[in-house]
Amino acid sequence: MPELPEVEVVRIGLERHAVGRTITGVEVLHPRPVRRDPRGPTGFAAALTGRRIDGTRRRGKYLWLPLDNGDALLGHLGMSGQFLVQPPAAAAERHLRIRISLDTPETELRFVDQRMFGGLSISSGGAELPSEIAHIARDPLDPEFDDEEFVARVRRGSSGVKRQLLNQALISGVGNIYADEALWRARIHGERPGERLTRAQVRELLEHSRDVLKEALGEGGTSFDALYVNVNGESGYFDRSLHAYGRQDEPCDRCGTPIRRVAFMNRSSYFCPKCQPVPRRRRAAPLVPE
Ligand SMILES: [Zn+2]
Repeated sequence: MPELPEVEVVRIGLERHAVGRTITGVEVLHPRPVRRDPRGPTGFAAALTGRRIDGTRRRGKYLWLPLDNGDALLGHLGMSGQFLVQPPAAAAERHLRIRISLDTPETELRFVDQRMFGGLSISSGGAELPSEIAHIARDPLDPEFDDEEFVARVRRGSSGVKRQLLNQALISGVGNIYADEALWRARIHGERPGERLTRAQVRELLEHSRDVLKEALGEGGTSFDALYVNVNGESGYFDRSLHAYGRQDEPCDRCGTPIRRVAFMNRSSYFCPKCQPVPRRRRAAPLVPE
């Protein structure tokens, strides 16, 4: 599943190939990826045609392309979406869903999505910030991310700190993989309640989250399966530098203890049971007075 670094890699690719171009035609090959657009496939295509792409922006895992009329083309890659820049003559991908022609014979944009949890829509007046995603917090690579506010909010929360790292209203872009890596680096178990962490611990966890994202970005994102590839169809290599995620039963790179995997919100959490001890439960008050 694409996470922030992968989406940023895609954004950089689109910045290079799409900005300043005018959309000359849109072909919607499957209606599902445009289901969030009330115009329907035909209206979606008509509204985009003739518009110039003025930039590329991202918040968390959402991408948007501001258009010359103040609207935006808003995209989410979902579980398996890819935004590809291809020569128009290149063979169609098996799961090609939307083809966007540009005013150049060299390239066109293609939205490819096998499972179709992702999609594209037009956000009216959304060039600056689409209202559809205004509730999503900034990500830690955003220069305007407020570290102190984040630390204070985490320390007010009674839920486990991993759950907080995945809360898009608090911090965006730190998905399951990078949360596990940041927690391993900070030596904190994901079930530790935020309210039981010190200010320094939360600050350190935030710094590690930021570092993990920056490193993954430098590597072109993480790729665990063939579903995700970047804008040119190349996979990232960050999975070679993971310390916790996906390493069940392999020795911890710090202490040698086998990494453990536990179920977490329909997914998995990986941690070192020695470096990241499971928090002790507070003794619960008896339900019935003795
Ligand atoms: Zn360890």
